Amino acid sequence: MNYDEHVLGGIITYPLSILIASLLKYYLAVPFQLSFIAMILGYAFYVLGSDLPDMDHPDALIHRGTKPLVAVAMGTSAFLKFSGISITEYEWANLTIAWGIASLFAFASWYVFSAVIPKHRGIIHSVSFAIIYGLLSFAITVYGLGLKFGEGLFVGFAAFMGYLLHLILDKHIKLI
Ligand SMILES: [Zn+2]
Repeated sequence: MNYDEHVLGGIITYPLSILIASLLKYYLAVPFQLSFIAMILGYAFYVLGSDLPDMDHPDALIHRGTKPLVAVAMGTSAFLKFSGISITEYEWANLTIAWGIASLFAFASWYVFSAVIPKHRGIIHSVSFAIIYGLLSFAITVYGLGLKFGEGLFVGFAAFMGYLLHLILDKHIKLI
């Protein structure tokens, strides 16, 4: 399936995740907290998850869209590391040199990113990665954004479900 189908699949099936989460909450007492913010973030992580596994395809939009973000993030963190150092005694030159070094890191990360991503429909297209994505989303929302446990639990669940949806639509469900 292509990008449009995966993302549209995520956009339209989100209510199913709300339904399953509600049933788990009411019948099995899973402590999901379906607050407004949790459901909005859940939607975002769900739809992102519905296309995320194609990260391992070099031509996929999500792969190509992520590379510049990774490069900028790498370049920026390299700049933060080098900006404190007075590389030369000429203050007017130091900023440019620090950014020069940073841009080399960003440039290199472009190729490192392509090299470390496993082959298409390898391990990234697996239920294990769906679980990892769910756990990461939980950690980001609870520890990064300061949401409550039950809210983060729902976001993590929605993220997992979105990722799982991708594997189902690909008809490519394997554990590892
Ligand atoms: Zn796929």
